[in-house]
Amino acid sequence: MYRVYYLDLAAIVILSAIFTALIFRRMYRGRENRAFVKYVVLLLVVATADVFRIAPLYWLRPLSYSVTFRTICCSAYTFLNLVNYAMYIYMVGKMTGTFKKITTTPILAILFGLPVAVSAVMIVSNFFTHKLFYYDRISEFDIMYNRGPLMWVMVAAGYYYAAFAFVHVVICFIKQRLDKVRFAALMVVFPINIIFFNIQSAHPNVVVQVFGYATTALILSFYVISPEEYLDMETGAKSYTAFRRTIGNVFSSRDDAFVIFGRLQNLTSIRSALGYETYLSLLRDISDSIYSMLKVGKNIDINLYYLKNGLFAFVIRGKYDVDRIENTAQAMLPKLRDLFVVDGIRLKLDFAMCGVMIPNEIMSENQLIRLSESFDHAVPLNKYVRYSEMVPEKEFVVRNNLDRIISDAIKNNKFEMYYQPIYSTRDGKFVSAEALIRLHDEQLGFISPALFIPAAEKSGSILQIGEFVIKDVCRFLSESDLADSGIRFLEVNLSVVQCMQANMASKIRDILDEYKISPDRINFEITETASEYLADAVLRTMSDISDNGNGFSLDDYGSGYSNLSRVMSFPYRIIKLDKSLVDGLGDSRSYEIVRQTISLLKSLGAEIVVEGVEDKQKAEWFCDMGCEYIQGYYYAKPMPEHEFIAFCKSSAVG
Ligand code: C2E
Ligand code: MG
Ligand code: MG
Repeated sequence: MYRVYYLDLAAIVILSAIFTALIFRRMYRGRENRAFVKYVVLLLVVATADVFRIAPLYWLRPLSYSVTFRTICCSAYTFLNLVNYAMYIYMVGKMTGTFKKITTTPILAILFGLPVAVSAVMIVSNFFTHKLFYYDRISEFDIMYNRGPLMWVMVAAGYYYAAFAFVHVVICFIKQRLDKVRFAALMVVFPINIIFFNIQSAHPNVVVQVFGYATTALILSFYVISPEEYLDMETGAKSYTAFRRTIGNVFSSRDDAFVIFGRLQNLTSIRSALGYETYLSLLRDISDSIYSMLKVGKNIDINLYYLKNGLFAFVIRGKYDVDRIENTAQAMLPKLRDLFVVDGIRLKLDFAMCGVMIPNEIMSENQLIRLSESFDHAVPLNKYVRYSEMVPEKEFVVRNNLDRIISDAIKNNKFEMYYQPIYSTRDGKFVSAEALIRLHDEQLGFISPALFIPAAEKSGSILQIGEFVIKDVCRFLSESDLADSGIRFLEVNLSVVQCMQANMASKIRDILDEYKISPDRINFEITETASEYLADAVLRTMSDISDNGNGFSLDDYGSGYSNLSRVMSFPYRIIKLDKSLVDGLGDSRSYEIVRQTISLLKSLGAEIVVEGVEDKQKAEWFCDMGCEYIQGYYYAKPMPEHEFIAFCKSSAVG
């Protein structure tokens, strides 16, 4: 006899394969994956119920004589079949973040739930009323299935759900909660199911409906859940692509969400210490631990993503309790730090975490991605910081856009030199000034060189900036009569990156020649740390420059590791004492240390400039200690060219 349930068995095989793949690929995480897993499980149950509905005819022969058994199987199949439609709506709702809305809007909740509730009542009462279907005993070994007068209600409920699901998917697509591929895959489900449903209705012996469900589940598993694209294979968390899709969805649908980024700071050293394989399994363990720690509540919708390079992201959507989430993130840090023991060694993991609320704190996807790339600069190790409390907004924007800001400033000549007068204690007047670069951006206002110079050093654009500085200072010297006002030389900062260029000395000489400036009118400042890098190359360039006739000052002495041998490695004309030494000058002990330091440095033949003197008392102290020059707000702040000229003239007269 023709085994009509064979297609059901095929459906069970397909659905089991999908289910196994989902489990092996750890696709049971995240609400949309979970919804899909539930959908597949339900289909498996439907298919199984269908097999039991039909199979007794063939291989459970004795059972097929039992009207009760067959009524139970058929009731289960009929009911679950309908639940399956509702489940599809549930899955789309979870996928698009709209299910909450369906259940919390009363009218939608009724439209969604009522048919299932009515059907449930009808199925149960059918045992007594036989209004849906019933079995007639024809003989001892034969019973027959009959449709009841109200069976059309179940069919109508099925069509009703199909229409509900169709409208739901279309609305989600229009509201940009679904991309084109997922939309297309979800739409394909409708014609397939309608065709298979109609075949089975017309020919009850051709049991194809469940097979249709399995086919659509297969399509969905390829195009809607596609694991390779959306799952990070190293950690089992969701991938960067999935993160971008979720975030795109959050912004386009104007949803509320809370995102926490956590970056493993000592990733490089851990990777090199453990070897790649062990490191990968550690990453997976970390991901699992984070996942289990994050489960703060049953109803909370959290997804974990791994965005590569030690960066994890948790996205919390829908209703959430900010305090609870932040407390969880904070509590997670010390636990994660001490959790992992590899080969008997307790690893110390350093994480930095940052939480941000969408849309209150961040308005665009790009802004969020930039935050993910740079937040750890502003977060102390093993700390959680809320974005809004991290750094002033402007500084954050500046930090995130430094490269663009610098290249724009170079292109549009936005840099300007300021001059800060330097007072000579011996002459009792101003004899020099430090040239300090300034950048004013139309939108962001003043941007500190302490911020953009290090960035320009990293990107290499410091070379162009440095050339501008030297040229502009030379132009200024050649156009003004500073010498008449007593200004003998100017201090110009030189970056270590400039000093690593072999042809720097000849470049400088060319510029000086072009503006006809005598080299002794420019003294180059170089920071103490400069000579840490490529000491030989830097020293060679410095001696070439000094052969040109320019002098050198050692900047920021006392700010880092003061190393006398470094001071002695080059014949500095001037040593500039860092502001931190000035600020620390409180008690007699530090006064004495600074006094001795100064006399030691002087004994090496250098002159001393003190930087950052802000009050009269300190100016007098340094005068007494024998410093030749003082620079600081007490005398004058850095000022633009024309103000500086006026300042020099008036102080020369005064
Ligand atoms: P620096 O060379 O040590 O410059 C001294 C800094 O101290 C300047 O900050 C100056 O404005 C500030 N300063 C001077 N007196 C006082 C004071 O009494 N109180 C306080 N609070 N600050 C004072 P600025 O202009 O922000 O420059 C910061 C750093 O940026 C400079 O430190 C230097 O390392 C770098 N820089 C500035 N201009 C250039 C340049 O043209 N080329 C290069 N390569 N670096 C530059
Ligand atoms: Mg300086
Ligand atoms: Mg300095």
